[in-house]
Amino acid sequence: MALIVQKYGGTSMGSPDRIRNVAKRVARWKAQGHQLVVVVSAMSGETNRLIALAKDVSPQPDGRELDVMISTGEQVTIALLAMALMDLGLKAKSYTGSQVKVLTDSTFTKARILDIDGDNIRRDLDAGTVVIVAGFQGVDADGNITTLGRGGSDTSGVALAAALKADECQIYTDVDGVYTTDPRIVPEARKLDSITFEEMLEMASLGSKVLQIRSVEFAGKYKVKLRVLSSFEEEGKETMGTLITFEEDSKMEQAIISGIAFNRDEAKLTVLGVPDRPGIAYQILGAIAEANIDVDMIIQNVGHDGTTDFSFTVPRGEFDRAKKILDEQVSPHVGARAVEGDKHICKVSAVGVGMRSHPGVASKMFRVLAEEGINIQMISTSEIKISVVVDEKYLELAVRVLHKAFDLDQAAA
Ligand code: ADP
Ligand code: ASP
Ligand code: MG
Repeated sequence: MALIVQKYGGTSMGSPDRIRNVAKRVARWKAQGHQLVVVVSAMSGETNRLIALAKDVSPQPDGRELDVMISTGEQVTIALLAMALMDLGLKAKSYTGSQVKVLTDSTFTKARILDIDGDNIRRDLDAGTVVIVAGFQGVDADGNITTLGRGGSDTSGVALAAALKADECQIYTDVDGVYTTDPRIVPEARKLDSITFEEMLEMASLGSKVLQIRSVEFAGKYKVKLRVLSSFEEEGKETMGTLITFEEDSKMEQAIISGIAFNRDEAKLTVLGVPDRPGIAYQILGAIAEANIDVDMIIQNVGHDGTTDFSFTVPRGEFDRAKKILDEQVSPHVGARAVEGDKHICKVSAVGVGMRSHPGVASKMFRVLAEEGINIQMISTSEIKISVVVDEKYLELAVRVLHKAFDLDQAAA
């Protein structure tokens, strides 16, 4: 008997039929003698609908009130799944985040999980009940409802698995595993049987939204056995999905590049003609950090005549706020010549632990992009990834040609 945490995403919970299908799948696992905790997302489209509704009423809704509202999608699906399981003759009980006590900090709309009280859940599991928990939501120390950021049900699932010391956490979604790139963009993308934790962390942080990055961080920190699988496979035809592994050398032959990730959610800001002296980077980015805006890539150009240009990227949704801070606070203060912005960029990245032992990956990447006439605006690298910022209109082309050039297409398998 194992303790298994399963998470079902929005598409998997997207209609009454699909919810009944999820219930059948859960029932099959239960019938094998396992203890089951099931974390669910809202029905697909529901969280978007709720956010749009809030913004229709108030252009910049208050974070606390937004969380009260957007957490409701998951409150609906937990109860629906519990009903469907009861109709199959199983004992089932639903819990909201605050009923479990998924304790988070108070950063509304992107709260972090601090602690999970597993007592209620353990009691129910011991009584043979399937426990269903609302993903994406928690509660802060003052009892306020919080949410964990878009895609946050993945993190709820993995955090619960860690807290309950589950044997495995299974993330059920609408694809049958982690692919070499988003199969919606490149139909030739190949499913990976396994991916190392480090690579998955990079892929998720660089835009592969198949797993929310914090869920991967949790899996790494608490060594949760994590698998991504499809909720749409027929009974008897289920595959094993993709296992996130912790052993670097587990693959017989390590591919140099495991995947191509991309992110459209970026915008670039450049502060032109700032004095080339100590403290300038701090003055620019300090103001941005104070406004709680995440900065991703940073470039400072070589100085000329005592001045230099300073560029960085931020999430696209924060572009206007960041530009205003630069225009009004930073630029006059540091004596910049101008502030420029570009919302139409994207980031494309090649990820692979094999890069460590194979030089020449960056030059190959730059050559492949040059051959397509794609201009690289920014570059950043780490031990196992190379990212470039390019014009958004080249996103699909860049991903496709890199995918092919690094032998990731299905035909190459
Ligand atoms: P869920 O609602 O189940 O959480 P998501 O839409 O959040 O599902 O994540 C699944 C989607 O992630 C897939 O439909 C796919 O388009 C996208 N995706 C992006 N990158 C990848 C990748 N490398 N491998 C698999 N899926 C990916
Ligand atoms: N329902 C939330 C969202 O759409 C959380 C999730 O699906 O993981 O972002
Ligand atoms: Mg998701």
